[in-house]
Amino acid sequence: LHAALMHRKIAAMTADTRIIRVALPVPLAQLYDYDLPLAQDIVVGARLRVPFGQRQLVGICMADQVDAEGEFQRKPALAVIDDQPLWPQPIWQLLNWAAGYYCHALGDALAHAMPVLLRKGEAAAYQSQRYYRLSEAGEDIDINALKRAPQQQRLLNALRQGPLSSAQINATDEGFSAAALRALQEKGWVHAEQRSRRAPSWQLQQAEAPLPLNKEQAIAVAAINRASGAATYLLEGVTGSGKTEVYLQAMAEVLARGQQVLLLVPEIGLTPQTLARMQARFAVPIVMLHSGLTDRERLDAWLDARDGGAAIVVGTRSAIFTPCQRLGMIIIDEEHDASFKQQDGFRYNARDLAVKRAQLEQVPLLLGSATPSLESLENARQQRYHWLQLKQRAGGAKAVKHRVIDLKQQPLEAGLSTPLLTLMQTTLDKGEQVLLFLNRRGYAPALMCHECGWLAQCPRCDAYFTVHQQLGLLQCHHCGTQRPLPRQCHDCGSTQLVGRGVGTEQLEQVLSKRFPDHPVLRIDRDSTRRKGELDKHLQAATEARYPILLGTQMLAKGHHFPQVTLVALLDVDAALYSADFRAPERLGQLYTQVAGRAGRAEKAGMVVLQTHHPEHDLIQDLINNGYGHFALTSLQERQQAALPPCSHLALFRAEGMQREQVIAALDALSAQLPTHPQVQVLGPLPALMERKAGRYRYQLLLQCEQRAIRQQLLQHVLPTLARLPELRKVRWSLDIDPQDF
Ligand code: ADP
Ligand code: ZN
Ligand code: ZN
Repeated sequence: LHAALMHRKIAAMTADTRIIRVALPVPLAQLYDYDLPLAQDIVVGARLRVPFGQRQLVGICMADQVDAEGEFQRKPALAVIDDQPLWPQPIWQLLNWAAGYYCHALGDALAHAMPVLLRKGEAAAYQSQRYYRLSEAGEDIDINALKRAPQQQRLLNALRQGPLSSAQINATDEGFSAAALRALQEKGWVHAEQRSRRAPSWQLQQAEAPLPLNKEQAIAVAAINRASGAATYLLEGVTGSGKTEVYLQAMAEVLARGQQVLLLVPEIGLTPQTLARMQARFAVPIVMLHSGLTDRERLDAWLDARDGGAAIVVGTRSAIFTPCQRLGMIIIDEEHDASFKQQDGFRYNARDLAVKRAQLEQVPLLLGSATPSLESLENARQQRYHWLQLKQRAGGAKAVKHRVIDLKQQPLEAGLSTPLLTLMQTTLDKGEQVLLFLNRRGYAPALMCHECGWLAQCPRCDAYFTVHQQLGLLQCHHCGTQRPLPRQCHDCGSTQLVGRGVGTEQLEQVLSKRFPDHPVLRIDRDSTRRKGELDKHLQAATEARYPILLGTQMLAKGHHFPQVTLVALLDVDAALYSADFRAPERLGQLYTQVAGRAGRAEKAGMVVLQTHHPEHDLIQDLINNGYGHFALTSLQERQQAALPPCSHLALFRAEGMQREQVIAALDALSAQLPTHPQVQVLGPLPALMERKAGRYRYQLLLQCEQRAIRQQLLQHVLPTLARLPELRKVRWSLDIDPQDF
């Protein structure tokens, strides 16, 4: 009897529910089925809340009314959150495509594309706020009646311009008093109401007039404006050639049609000047997705973009997933920058996804750089991209001179050669600025015993500790381990411990002593850790209050320092002999970007490179023939070595506490890969840094002639990997089109 009853109950339940399939924010590639009452509507692409183990998760509905799969006991879904798909169609397609291309769990990819509050299940709507407005009596009152209550008078006056939100009233710069508000409410002159903000509507207002274009710029703008549908433009323009002006004038056309522009930059904090020019040019709502936003502000910005309220959306790589109701153009500034690639979790490349998004949305994509990536150059050479070049510096700036200083047998003062010191002196005497690049922060990259040669090594990494003298610390820049500065050598007990090599902190000290009349400004991650410090430093740098600027790679990007006429790269030797095949490309880019910081105004500039290998082919090619030629040479080398962009890579990484286990895991994985004449499998090989944070790291590289074959092979092999016991003992991941090794 009992069994029969049970049967009837389940049958009854299945009659009025159906099965839906859901993507959940978990690392597994599978989807999950839940029951949903027939009476409950749901659309594909909507969020819902479901039970998962002991937890509740927010997932996305992928399919409705599917057939039961397997014998699993399904649970009922808890609540449907959205009555509309969360993303418009193109972004939905983009995300589904990206999860497939990057072989990443769909649910995790979708979660990655959501602002935090949406991930937590918050409504995709503006928050309602308390607004204050005048009552009729408040409108009619004679403002002079409040002469003796100036606070109330001021607030009443402000409310006569229109309602104010509580946030506006509380904003400190306005300085309205809470007591005055209460008093006005008690008199019945002000009413409160609860309302939600709405997406602003806008129309292009040209604030500042555009510059008259030079011929190259005019050709570029005309070509972009002729675009119909999807097309990718590579705007290759030497630093100072006026790329930003081309962006602005191309944007103007799009905005005039009432369409939105999505602009991706490597780092928002590092491009204040570009952003300021955009704000000066266009009086339209600009949304900036920077790391300083609160979760609420981020969701509001996302809604502004999605619903068309933001005319211009600026962000870093993850902004590629920001929906825009009326997208008219995508721009990627500094397209060669490695930061467009996400290095962990969902390892996508925003630049490559932009190409896909532009196709899906049928809008033009503009890739801008003074030093395009070899990938983009190859696409331009193959005429898959329109290649626009700006070879002249705009605004009358002169071309720079180059000088290579051979460091061999030179006396060095904190890494500075005598010829460089002389050049610095001459420049400073003329009242001009000097910019020095050293890509090593801290005081010294290692601490050594002068008696026995012992070096302080991080116990968890194959790396030396960096000396941070101001902090009194040894710090590992790879795993973050810190130690107090030792007083004695661990091996021989000597107290003769010295820094080996030079970091920015030490260089700053030495420069301050050497040039006491010329203040030094250091810009690196240590000197800009606190909020607002970077902005402050960059501002100070442009104002030329500091004749000597000193910084890491951070300073190479997009800044205009009009008084700088001498730029020096202090040490480039490491990049010349790196095992990373992209190291030369990155050096070429850094060198060229840095050279672009010299002589931007009317004064001629000079760029100096210090090296022990002045005869190196790469240096000679760069100096004598420029980045364009250097890049083509590099492309030929990549072709010969069958490296990207002339082949397509996929990298399996594995790490664990025991070296043998890590190697065994990749061996087992390798054994699953079918042989294919077009696919090379290399490894398991140790990563460039074999041990990091206590873990051994190995990798297996797939090199394929064609993308499609790589995808087929991976689709075939990935589902089998879950069954490999060796893989379960290690952490492993797959990186498609990897950037770092
Ligand atoms: P890039 O982005 O290529 O480094 P910018 O767009 O910042 O170059 O331009 C460099 C400088 O030249 C800026 O000060 C800019 O105002 C100026 N500039 C750009 N285009 C023109 C032009 N057509 N006429 C006069 N000055 C220009
Ligand atoms: Zn010693
Ligand atoms: Zn370490």
